[in-house]
Amino acid sequence: MHTETEKAYLLKALEHFNRKFIVISPDFKVLAASGRDSAALAKNSGQTHCYKTIYDRFAPCESCPAKKTLQTCEPTLREIENDRAHSGRMTCLYSYPLVSEGVLEAIVVVDFDLPMLEKLEDRLKRSNAFFRNLIRSAVDGVIAADKTGKVFIFNDAAAEITGYSVAEALNHLDIRQVYPEGEAYEIMRKLRSEEYGGQRKLKFYPTQAVRKDGAVIPINLNAALVCDNNQEVASIGFFHDRREELRIKRELEKTQVQLLQAEKMASLGKLAAGVAHQLNNPLSGITLFSKIVLEDYELPDEAREDLQRILRDAQRCRDTVKELLEFARQTRQIMKPNDINKALSRTLFLLQNQTLFQNIEIQTDLAPDLPPVQSDIQQINHLFMNIILNAAEAMEGKGRLSIKTAVAPAGDRACIEISDSGPGIPEEVLPHIFEPFFTTKEEGKGTGLGLSLVYGIVENHGGAIRASSRPGEGTTFSIELFFAGKEKNEAQRDGKS
Ligand code: ADP
Ligand code: MG
Repeated sequence: MHTETEKAYLLKALEHFNRKFIVISPDFKVLAASGRDSAALAKNSGQTHCYKTIYDRFAPCESCPAKKTLQTCEPTLREIENDRAHSGRMTCLYSYPLVSEGVLEAIVVVDFDLPMLEKLEDRLKRSNAFFRNLIRSAVDGVIAADKTGKVFIFNDAAAEITGYSVAEALNHLDIRQVYPEGEAYEIMRKLRSEEYGGQRKLKFYPTQAVRKDGAVIPINLNAALVCDNNQEVASIGFFHDRREELRIKRELEKTQVQLLQAEKMASLGKLAAGVAHQLNNPLSGITLFSKIVLEDYELPDEAREDLQRILRDAQRCRDTVKELLEFARQTRQIMKPNDINKALSRTLFLLQNQTLFQNIEIQTDLAPDLPPVQSDIQQINHLFMNIILNAAEAMEGKGRLSIKTAVAPAGDRACIEISDSGPGIPEEVLPHIFEPFFTTKEEGKGTGLGLSLVYGIVENHGGAIRASSRPGEGTTFSIELFFAGKEKNEAQRDGKS
């Protein structure tokens, strides 16, 4: 128990504590008041309701903390968030019970909050949940790790990029596993240096992420060191997946290369056409005059034979010139129904007399009555030319070239198979052959453009191409092209023609 002097001091202390401090009965009547406006409040002690005196109301306020204390017998903090109405007024913020022998005797209400731990925790939890949600729904992968490398923040996008599940990452992932060997160390070094976006920061740093399955993914990394009292405690990284961006870039490069190639082909075509026309006149002369000499003169048998040989060769030159003209005929894409067998034969005709083909046995198995394919004939010629030339180069001019056409079982497209008996394509090379500039040939021999052009042409026609090969057992290119009127997608065809 307090002595009288103590009580006097305590009262004085309360009086000088210039905040509202009232004691009310369980039926909300003011029993005592101290601090601000105490005189007015406690005027008729035990007679007037607190809500009437303070707020001029006829019932306790909606969010009165004392109401809750009355129910629970627990200290209560007013729910301020839901209570904008009383802002600026002398609000009752906090209440606690006065219990005597197990019975609630009175409630103390004050206008300053004494937040309880649980409340604070609750708020903290809510704001934590909000931030977790924020991080979770971020578009970029977010990964944070403590100083030992243990991951403690890992969002859904990070899971998508790395292939680890969130639970897996939070339980056993070390941040070093997410980067290629030595890269985590390099990133930490850069983070600690001033040079890469300021101290403790790394901005738009292009690097790689290593997936759970070992695949490596290009990313842009934004990272920061997290410090507490100037001590490094963690690091956080935002992983921006660059695969889509790079894919579009590659596609663009490929298109540019194809454009370049197409232009080159177009000018080559013009050149060939010019030369062919120039050759046509003298060839006509040779043919005509050989015939005249044969008919008009009495010639010894040997001379006659020689002349006939000249005539035959001139005829062949004319055929070649005709095919060359056909081959190089047009420069703009013109889609129309074309006979694929004829295109193959023409390409073979042009190639088979070249020295490279002298020791190559050519086998053809062309399906009779193959329906026409909706296509640009010049592109189709280039397509076959590139594949057949590659085959001859791979066989180094010696071996067997097989060309087969057939109607696909579905009946809507042609299947063309071009196989060679060359050395085949090693497994690690096969995925790259259609990439622009990819070549295994020595400098000056290969440009690496042939198959990328082929790929572009097949895509252009809505078709498909596949290369299969086993080292030592040759290579087969299989191409599928839709018959005219059977194209996959009308819109695509209309847009392209
Ligand atoms: P290039 O012929 O200029 O090298 P391509 O794009 O035509 O470029 O071909 C790319 C690569 O694909 C070649 O360098 C070669 O390694 C491989 N290749 C293509 N066709 C064959 C084939 N029939 N046999 C073996 N390798 C081939
Ligand atoms: Mg080539």
